[in-house]
Amino acid sequence: MRLFSNKKRPVHLGPYPLERLARADRPNGSTVAGPRRAAPVEAPEEFAISRSIGEYVALYDSLRDGEVAPALAPLPDDLAARADNFKASTYFLDASMVGICEIPRDAWLEPALDHSHAAVILVSYTRDPKPGEPGEAWIRGAQAARAALRAQEIAVVQAGYLRALGYSARAHSETLSELDHDRLVVEAGLGAVGRDGVANPFVGRRFAVAVVSTDMAMACDRPLAGNGRRGAQSLAYWLGLGGSEPAWRRLTGKHRPFYMGRFPMEKIKRVATTTTLITDAVPRVPKRAAFFARALHGDLGEKTKRERRRFAFKTPQVAGMMQPIAQLVALQDGPVAASPAPGTDAAPANADAVKAIAYYLGGDAVGICEAAPFAWYSHHGDGTPIEPYHKSAITILIDQGFETMEGASGDDWISGAQSMRAYLRSAEIAGVLAAHIRRLGYSARSHTNADSDVLHIPLIMLAGLGELSRIGELVLNPFVGPRFKSVVVTTDLPLRADQPIDFGLQDFCEQCMKCARECPPAAISFGPKVMFNGYEMWKPDVEKCTRYRVTNPKGSACGRCMKMCPFNTEGLLVHRLFLWAAINLPFTRPWIARLDDKVGNGRRNPVKRWWYDLEVVDRISVLPKGTNERDLNLDKVIRAADQKLAHFPADMMPPPDHGDPFPVDREAGLRRAAAAETPQEARRRLKVP
Ligand code: SF4
Ligand code: SF4
Repeated sequence: MRLFSNKKRPVHLGPYPLERLARADRPNGSTVAGPRRAAPVEAPEEFAISRSIGEYVALYDSLRDGEVAPALAPLPDDLAARADNFKASTYFLDASMVGICEIPRDAWLEPALDHSHAAVILVSYTRDPKPGEPGEAWIRGAQAARAALRAQEIAVVQAGYLRALGYSARAHSETLSELDHDRLVVEAGLGAVGRDGVANPFVGRRFAVAVVSTDMAMACDRPLAGNGRRGAQSLAYWLGLGGSEPAWRRLTGKHRPFYMGRFPMEKIKRVATTTTLITDAVPRVPKRAAFFARALHGDLGEKTKRERRRFAFKTPQVAGMMQPIAQLVALQDGPVAASPAPGTDAAPANADAVKAIAYYLGGDAVGICEAAPFAWYSHHGDGTPIEPYHKSAITILIDQGFETMEGASGDDWISGAQSMRAYLRSAEIAGVLAAHIRRLGYSARSHTNADSDVLHIPLIMLAGLGELSRIGELVLNPFVGPRFKSVVVTTDLPLRADQPIDFGLQDFCEQCMKCARECPPAAISFGPKVMFNGYEMWKPDVEKCTRYRVTNPKGSACGRCMKMCPFNTEGLLVHRLFLWAAINLPFTRPWIARLDDKVGNGRRNPVKRWWYDLEVVDRISVLPKGTNERDLNLDKVIRAADQKLAHFPADMMPPPDHGDPFPVDREAGLRRAAAAETPQEARRRLKVP
C-alpha cells in the first residue's frame, strides 16, 4: 500500500529519488579511486539459503557475454533518450538504482574491452530477519548472496538486450568481473567513499552491484556532491512523495514478518472448498494437449507453428532472457540429502519457513496445498506417463508489475517481455527454494513455464491465492489482480496446507465484463459459467486466444485482459478502500466496475511508456509494421448470443504421444460448447449444494 501515486513519475527515474541528490562535475578528491568492492564473503551455516544460490550465480556467470546482432537497431541519436530507455528497462527488472558513466581506463582490472560505457546496477538488501521469526535460521546471512544474484540476473538480461540492439555488451557480477565496481558506483553517482568504503545515500553499504559494460554511448550521470546523504534523508523520501518508493516500511508492507508477505492475505476470508465447483471427475490431461504445445505441433496450422517459436521472444528486450529461462530447467530437480535435517518434521513451522524464503527471494504471494492428483499432467510430451510423485505443492505468484502495464495496451511490443520477466524470476525463486528443500533431505522439484509436470491453475486456487475469474483459465488474486505469473514447487517436506479464499469475485465477475469486452479476438465468455473438464468456469475459447497471442502482428503475445481488469491497481490506500468495499459490500460491485471505466482505468499512461517498438527479424531489431494502439472500447456491444466460442474438452485432445499435427476441429468444438452442462445441472447431478 502507498499514499502517493507514481503515475506521473517516469519509469527511468526508478523507485529511489536519485534526482533529488546534489551532483558535482567530478567526484570529490577522496572519491576518485575507491577500493574495489569485495565479493561477498560469508560463512553460511549448513542449512542457510545462501548455499543454494551458488549454482545460480555460476549459471548466470556463464551467460555474461554472447553474440552481437549483425546490424544496429534504429535507436534515437539522443544519448539522453538512450540512457532513459536503458534505465527504465533495468528498473522494469527490479533494480533498486541504476547509474551510467564512461569507464575510466584505470577502472579496468583486467585487459580492457573495447567498451566505453558502464551501466551500474545496484540492488539493495531487504530488512534483516528478526531473531526467531519463521525462516530466520535459513535466511540469516544471505543478504549479500540474494542481492548479488538479483543484480547479476538483471545485468545478464540487460547485456543480452544491448547485444540484440547491435552493440557489444558484457555483464560483470560480484563473482566474475574485469571492472572495479566501487569505482564505477562513484563515477555513476550512486555512492561516495566513506570511512568503511563506498556507501549509497539511501541504503548505506547494504547493497550488491553488477555492471554492464558496452560500446553503446549513453548520457552519463554526474557523481554525487559530497556523500549525498543530506538530500536523501528527507520527509518526502520517507513518505514517498512524488511517487518514489516510500522509505516508511509500514506503507510498503515490508515491516511484516517475512512469512506473511507484503499483502495482508490473512484478512481474506478462508473457505473449505474453492468458490467454483471442482468435481471428482476432473480428467488428467497430457502435456501434448496444452494449446501452446498444440501450436508447436502444427495443430493450429503452419503460420501458428512457425510463430510459436518466437512469439514471446521477438523483441530485443527479451533476448537476454531466453538462455537463462532455457538453462534454468536443468536446475529444477537434483539430488536429495541422505537424511532429513534436524527440526524439519513439524508441518506448520516448515510451512511458515518456506513461505518466508519464497517472499525473501522475491515472491509476491505464496500458498501451500496438497499436490492434488488431478493437478498433475498425465503424460510427458514424449508420451511417457507421469505418476504424481510429491504430496504437497508450494505455489508462488510473481507480479508482472503495474508500472509497465500502465503504459502498455496489453498486446503491444512489451507484452511478451512482461511475461518472460516474471517467468525468469519465478524459475529462479522456485529453483533456489527447491534446492534448499533437497538439502534439508526432502525431495523437491520446481515446475516452471519452461517445464512443469503440474497444472498451476487448480493449485493456485487450492492454495488460497485466488479465485477463478471471468478471464477463464486465469485465477485472480485480491491484491495483485490477474497481473501475475505462477511457479510451483512440489515436495515431500511436511507442510501445513492453506485453505481456498472467497473475496466475492464470482459475483463481481458476474457484474463486470471488462476483460471480455476488451479481448481483441473476443475469446473471453460474455455468457454464464459452464462445466468444463470437471471445473465450473467462464470457459474461454483457448484456440482463439492462443492463435491471437502467437500470431499477433502488431505486438508480442497478449495480456490485455490482465491490463483491463479493475483488480489491476497500483495498490494505493484508495485502491485498498475500493477492494474492501468490493469484498464486504456486494451492492457496490456493479458500481465499482462502472466507475473503473468512468475514471479511465485501462487507458495507456504515456508517462510509463518507456520501451522501443522493435521486432527482431533474422536476428536484427527493426521497426515493426505496426503497433496495437488501443485504449478503451466502451461502445462495443456485448451479446452472449452472438459470441461463438469453442470448447475442446479432454476427449477431443490429441493422444499423449501424437507427433504429427492433430488439427483442431473447430466445428466440433462449437458443438461441444453449445452442449456444455451448466454448474446448476452439475450440482443437481452430483447432489452438491
Ligand atoms: Fe484475450 Fe489476450 Fe487475454 Fe487471450 S490473453 S484472453 S487474447 S485479452
Ligand atoms: Fe472479472 Fe471484470 Fe476482472 Fe474480467 S475484468 S476478471 S469480469 S473483474
